[in-house]
Amino acid sequence: MRNTRLWQGMLGLARTVIEGVDLDDDAEAVVVSVRPRRGAQRRCGRCGRRAPWYDRGEGRRRWRGLDLGELRVVVEADAPRVNCPTHGPTVVQVPWARHGAGHTRAFDDTVAWLAVQCSRTAVTELMRIAWRTVGSIITRVSADIDARVDRFAGLRRIGIDEISYKRGYKYLTIVVDHDTGRLVWAASGRDETTLERFFDTLGPGRCARISHVSADSADWIARVVARRCPQAVQCADPFHVVKWATDALDEVRRHAWNEARGGQNQSRSERRHKHPKVHRLKKVRWALWKNPEDLTLRQHEHLAWLVKTHPQVHRAYLLKEGLRLVFRLDGHAAKDALDRWISWARRCRIPAFVRLQRSIMRHRATIDAALDSGLSNALIESTNTKIRLLTRIAYGFHSPDALIALALLALGGHRPALPSRP
Ligand SMILES: [Zn+2]
Repeated sequence: MRNTRLWQGMLGLARTVIEGVDLDDDAEAVVVSVRPRRGAQRRCGRCGRRAPWYDRGEGRRRWRGLDLGELRVVVEADAPRVNCPTHGPTVVQVPWARHGAGHTRAFDDTVAWLAVQCSRTAVTELMRIAWRTVGSIITRVSADIDARVDRFAGLRRIGIDEISYKRGYKYLTIVVDHDTGRLVWAASGRDETTLERFFDTLGPGRCARISHVSADSADWIARVVARRCPQAVQCADPFHVVKWATDALDEVRRHAWNEARGGQNQSRSERRHKHPKVHRLKKVRWALWKNPEDLTLRQHEHLAWLVKTHPQVHRAYLLKEGLRLVFRLDGHAAKDALDRWISWARRCRIPAFVRLQRSIMRHRATIDAALDSGLSNALIESTNTKIRLLTRIAYGFHSPDALIALALLALGGHRPALPSRP
């Protein structure tokens, strides 16, 4: 075979002997016949240890490689089995692909890199694969990174949260590192057994080093944390407290909207004709949800309109923003601000906020702990937003493992690298 090194370089085939390169007209693909180099032969596909020959397996196999220009590339080789002392009869390890994969390592790595950088359409069209295939590939690549890195190194202050996916039918339990902002663990389910698995993986030595655990005020999380990390200070997750306020504001807005709409018997167009306010209140919703610093000019106008027409909704908005501000301050300043906020909310005569004020009083100890520990709400909020965005992108993966893999690749601090790049 001439130009062997050229082919090896182009195809990213290290530790591999290239036996031949042909054009398969039917498949419109370049077929590269290969075999592992001597030192890389007869190793168990699962553990990589040398093992005695077992049988020919299912004969020759093909792996899809990275395209060469406009042509698809297929790598073809024998796939015999060895008899591993640990794993029994197993297909041999090959230097160019992960065990059990139908794509080469370079192909897998490129797809994983693209999956965290580009849109779903960009990945599937560029690589000419289905979105489900992307799911299997990133699961493999993420498992590979897991085997190499220690995600739990130096873990001290963690946040535990539940995230819904599949349009709210299913849940993931996730754990983030507050000091790095990284996602360190995720599993499907939201119950004590699921969370126990995290602490099992962490191990008793590292559990003992956890100083702060933040969570929404779910009892099941608090119970597991009290059992497994009794020394850790339990904090309320500022993100969730602010979300309670957003929910309360939404309740006030809906109430105003229903009042403006009046009776239910009128037709749609009649209602709109009679109450242009209804239409406008609907638009205002976006302005109410956004953080003030992100508002557009038009949304500022909506708010100004709200001050005149719905003073109660506007006051509710100010209460929500006031609470958000509390979590931007530190320690004493924050606690003082929270005291003032509570007395304001207690007297506000908006039922949703009076109730919110009561539940904040009930959780005051864990909220104070959060304010004392200086957990950055901005960090928690951005991690949360990113994961929620990923659950939408990941829609269409058939297993939660693919969603977890994508989340870990994107937010776990160990991003996939392109083939032969550091
Ligand atoms: Zn083995």
